[in-house]
Amino acid sequence: SNHFDEEHDVIVVGSGAGGMTAALCAKAEGLSSLVLEKDLLFGGTSAVSGGGIWIPCNDDIPRVGGSDTYEEALTYLKRLIGNEVPQANIEAYLKNAPEMVRHLGKTFDVKFRSVPKYPDYYADLPGGKPGFRSMEPVEFDASKLGDEFDVQRPSFRGTQLFGRIAMNQVEAHTLFSRGAGWIRLMLGMLLRYWFDFAWRRRTHRDRRQTLGQALTGSLREAMMRKDVPLYLGTGMTGLIHENGRVVGVEATQRGETLRLRARRGVVLACGGFESNPEMREQYLPKPTNVAWTAVPPINHGDGIRAGQALGAGLRHMDQVWGSPTVNKPGAAQQITLFVERGMPGCVAVNRKGQRFVNEAATYPDFLKAMYADDAKGNGTVPCWLIFDATFRFKYPMGIFLPGQIEPDAKLPKDWLDRVYYRADSLDALAQKIGVDASNLASTVSKLNGFAKTGVDTEFGKGNSPIDRYYSDRNVKPNPCLGPIEKAPFYAVRLDAGEIGTKGGLVTDERARVLRNDGSVIDGLYAVGNTAAAVMGPTYAGAGSTLGPAMTFGYVAAKDIARAT
Ligand code: FAD
Repeated sequence: SNHFDEEHDVIVVGSGAGGMTAALCAKAEGLSSLVLEKDLLFGGTSAVSGGGIWIPCNDDIPRVGGSDTYEEALTYLKRLIGNEVPQANIEAYLKNAPEMVRHLGKTFDVKFRSVPKYPDYYADLPGGKPGFRSMEPVEFDASKLGDEFDVQRPSFRGTQLFGRIAMNQVEAHTLFSRGAGWIRLMLGMLLRYWFDFAWRRRTHRDRRQTLGQALTGSLREAMMRKDVPLYLGTGMTGLIHENGRVVGVEATQRGETLRLRARRGVVLACGGFESNPEMREQYLPKPTNVAWTAVPPINHGDGIRAGQALGAGLRHMDQVWGSPTVNKPGAAQQITLFVERGMPGCVAVNRKGQRFVNEAATYPDFLKAMYADDAKGNGTVPCWLIFDATFRFKYPMGIFLPGQIEPDAKLPKDWLDRVYYRADSLDALAQKIGVDASNLASTVSKLNGFAKTGVDTEFGKGNSPIDRYYSDRNVKPNPCLGPIEKAPFYAVRLDAGEIGTKGGLVTDERARVLRNDGSVIDGLYAVGNTAAAVMGPTYAGAGSTLGPAMTFGYVAAKDIARAT
């Protein structure tokens, strides 16, 4: 039928950072836009994320003492991506990314700053940079959201100081690496939070938003100011098309079916397929498990399926934005290990008790190493991270804060030897977790030797700038290497998780969805994890998922405004 309940110029499906950016930018082009969100909370994975965006040549770089050029950024990306992604898409990203950030700042007061010390993930490659390209959201005052604050997806407690106090990237880096003044910084943050009496009466969530909370908070507040509506609890169930052109969206809202006409275009920004067990089985490397993801249980591949139903091509469906994750009982999703593996005094082993990776490798590379070693029959999915009492005391470990703040005695009793394992000797620990004890003993003694010399001759832990980003700079000679020697010894199981799936609808440099034969599906755009990643097989630097999601949201809006 051609009956529609409502009409808008642009309908955006999904309220993550990519979707909200697309809707705002469409509005700035003079179009009416609407965001549909299936969940009762807005913000998606973007809200629980680090909020980092990787933006080569961003305007902030000169201010913080860096330099960058288009050619360097292109050289770097081409080296990492090869021919896995059309050059036109890569160039569209590089060209539009700094423009997108400038536009959000000027037009909507959604602001970012460069993080000078956050290195590219392969900073030593040609065109790589020792910092500057990763940007973080500027802190945002949650009270500006009014009642919308209550429907923002809250962040995980683990990304906050003492589970409560928001930290930005720079603060987190100083605290985790025990940089100059870290104690003073921590006390200052505690006091600021503590003295915010009025706000604390309302909620334990910090008024001062950082990371993904600041990102989604500031985007949502801009939508409110610019009159861009958001329908919560409204899930897209399919696309409406006429003569090969997408003209609207079918959605369910409180059990009712809605037909919404999109006069100019539909932007699919409804995430990947992390929580869809069938799609995981069909596309991802095995073994895989829906329980291992670090993404909240919200994305089921709806956008990918809807595009596929219209003949869209798919790409990179076997790839993820990978990360090892740990299980915390009762949590809706697992916890990623970004920080802890780089610290000195831990070792990752397979079932044979052997190392298989530089523990400080980037999270996606760590995950690739797990699957590569598992394929050799070594029992590496899952694997184990082993550390000693000194490590436990000083550093966080996914499910717990450093022992000096959260000792074992404060943890739930039934976690012991179920969520984390502890024993008085490495031998007894190996028995508990079913790992080869004699190999483990020699692995650890080799590592203890590396700690003395400062050189990991096996996997080079601590050699690259990104290894040392999260490390203990007070430890010498190598801030990523320390002995495992003081009882009791600990083990935590690492699962093969992800912070998002990477494969999705094939799009062109204008974010338009393409059929298998390369033809354009008129009126249909895809961004974020609904689209096949512009990064292809790689992860160039912190913010390589959100940077493109938002950039192509901006690109899609401009293209819709231009098209007739
Ligand atoms: P999402 O942000 O997940 O948004 C999709 C939205 O669509 C959701 O709200 C969902 O409910 C909604 N939806 C789904 N189906 C439908 C439907 N049928 N109808 C309507 N709505 C629907 N990436 C970075 O680049 N930088 C970081 O610093 C970073 N840190 C991270 C930290 C953590 C702990 C995690 C878990 C991830 C992190 N990531 C980071 C990854 C990043 O968060 C995701 O890749 C990104 O948020 C994906 O954005 P998206 O817009 O595609 O999806």
